[in-house]
Amino acid sequence: METEKIEELRNSVVDAAKSIFSKGLVENNEGNVSIRVGRNEEYLITPTANQYDTITEDQIVHMAFDGTPLSSGKLPSSEAKLHTAIFKSRPKVQCVIHTHSTYATILSIVRKSIPIIMEEQIIYLGGSIDISSYGEAHTDDFGEVALKALGYKNGAILANHGVIVCGKSAANAIKNAELVEKFAKIYWGSLQIGEPHLLIEENLERFHKMFRQLFANCPKKWLK
Ligand SMILES: [Zn+2]
Repeated sequence: METEKIEELRNSVVDAAKSIFSKGLVENNEGNVSIRVGRNEEYLITPTANQYDTITEDQIVHMAFDGTPLSSGKLPSSEAKLHTAIFKSRPKVQCVIHTHSTYATILSIVRKSIPIIMEEQIIYLGGSIDISSYGEAHTDDFGEVALKALGYKNGAILANHGVIVCGKSAANAIKNAELVEKFAKIYWGSLQIGEPHLLIEENLERFHKMFRQLFANCPKKWLK
């Protein structure tokens, strides 16, 4: 891919990183954003010890799927393996975002999935937002437990850790990261004052269809 195009993608990583920071989904030194580089089995990712408020294009790290850094300078995020696992198994994914957003992380500590509580949740994310089993960050295992919890969907909660989302575009992945946090907050709040009413699965096919047509980014054969 031409240098110009890669520079454009570096800008997109910086914009997405600044966007999730300004929305309060991450603090400095936590979480990460990556964007796929064409069909090259490569991606661009935020660096380790990332400072969202001062991040610049030249700090973004270019990585091959096999873990080889393709740019000099900063080291990649130590959670890069999480991103590699998703890009490798889901060719349609263009952007992966990992956050430690507060309400979703609260649910991750008590190991609660978010059942289907709103229609919007199905359209953008695919349905329930499931909790992974525990995977130690920075290991291959972390990527595997994330993939399992994601299944065919676009967002999951990582046990005792945070959130993983993916999208067909950076804008779509940012939206998914915001939505996971919003549903976590709503579900958490509902649990404080009563027994949440869940939506009834057999009435929801039209929303699942919208998800499959508009926002699903897994291989087709994974979809029900
Ligand atoms: Zn993390």
